Amino acid sequence: MKTEFSLAQLADPDIAEADKILRACVHCGFCTATCPTYVLLGDELDSPRGRIYLIKEMLEKNRPPTREVVKHIDRCLSCLACMTTCPSGVHYMHLVDQARVKIEKDYVRPLTERALRAVLAFVLPRPQWFRWSMILARLGRPLGGLLPTPKTASASPGLLRRIKAMLALAPGRLPPSGPAGGSVFPAIGERRGRVALLQGCAQQVLAPRINQAAVNLLTRHGIEVVLVKDEQCCGALTHHLGRDGDALARARANIGVWLGEAERDGLDAILVTTSGCGTVIKDYGFMLREDRDFAGPAATVSALTKDITEYVSGIELQPSRQQRDITIAYHSACSLQHGQKITQAPKELLSKNGFVVKDVPESHLCCGSAGTYNILQPDIASRLRDRKVANIATVKPDMIAAGNIGCMVQIAGGTSVPVVHTIELLDWATGGPRPGLV
Ligand code: SF4
Ligand code: SF4
Repeated sequence: MKTEFSLAQLADPDIAEADKILRACVHCGFCTATCPTYVLLGDELDSPRGRIYLIKEMLEKNRPPTREVVKHIDRCLSCLACMTTCPSGVHYMHLVDQARVKIEKDYVRPLTERALRAVLAFVLPRPQWFRWSMILARLGRPLGGLLPTPKTASASPGLLRRIKAMLALAPGRLPPSGPAGGSVFPAIGERRGRVALLQGCAQQVLAPRINQAAVNLLTRHGIEVVLVKDEQCCGALTHHLGRDGDALARARANIGVWLGEAERDGLDAILVTTSGCGTVIKDYGFMLREDRDFAGPAATVSALTKDITEYVSGIELQPSRQQRDITIAYHSACSLQHGQKITQAPKELLSKNGFVVKDVPESHLCCGSAGTYNILQPDIASRLRDRKVANIATVKPDMIAAGNIGCMVQIAGGTSVPVVHTIELLDWATGGPRPGLV
């Protein structure tokens, strides 16, 4: 794609990066076929190619984003299916990230929307606040039924519709909190390695049992696990809302505490059980590339970061003593399959450990969770969830496995089949407890 940035614009490293990405696009449109919003809405401007044109116009003209541009960028899930499909290697993720930052800086949203986004950006990365918000949402759930339901699904929902979606996502009960930062779980038997395990924000409130399963499995196989003290939210939530100041501050803080831990007692890896977070931490090196003090450390952290299934694939798991003939529908989270290109490892681990693993039809399509997307775009998100659940039902599973808490909550909202994390099944297969429901 031909671009027309001025030399002065190209002096900005972000614009130079956008220029490189835009030039790689050859307008072929292959990406449209796998884009969930294009598949649902059929509008070219809701396809990757359409959005790339809108972003190009916005950046080249250096004008404040228009309402139309914001509408179509907001509808993008950042699922990155387009990056998997693109034959030219267009790095759509770095382009749309930049567009979101510009929108956040230069576009004035309606007051209610600004307020909602501010609340989400404040509450979600803070587990204590998130816990209280879930308790309040649970109490407010009956009110959700009183809120009006629009007759037709809207691709531009109002505040009440979003509040209704938020209330619907609140769980019926919350489990007790998991272990605090600073906890160390020694290896059982001879120590073969030492890792940090990301504590996560929403996950540690909604399903601390996921990290518990990871700790059980790792320590049982000779790996010491540390929950690093003073670790923060990885920044993914605010990064996807275009609030890069917040996201980068969190990244820098985490880099400091993780590398401090690595220097003190050694770390073979930083493990992540929420693939949405893993994708962003693996991108810290890029996000902080222009930061003189943090570029190197950020790259080191990104290189150390692994999805839990990536790491466990390198361990010889102890053979199980349990008998299982359980059919698992494996839901490949977008952040894992498109963001981190991890497609086979989780399925191979499950198969090797006695489960019957089934691929889900249209597995490249997002379930609609996508961070805060199911709150901000509840109607598109519900349609994607219903499509995902219907596809899953065709393989008649006993359980559904996924590697991302957002997907687990989203899918569980549309099915009675138990939804569990891949690591819970592996823990079970190697001597841990049978996993429960989300
Ligand atoms: S990230 Fe997903 S929703 Fe956004 S343009 Fe790409 S395929 Fe479409
Ligand atoms: S598939 Fe790649 S090159 Fe083709 S239009 Fe989409 S982003 Fe551009």
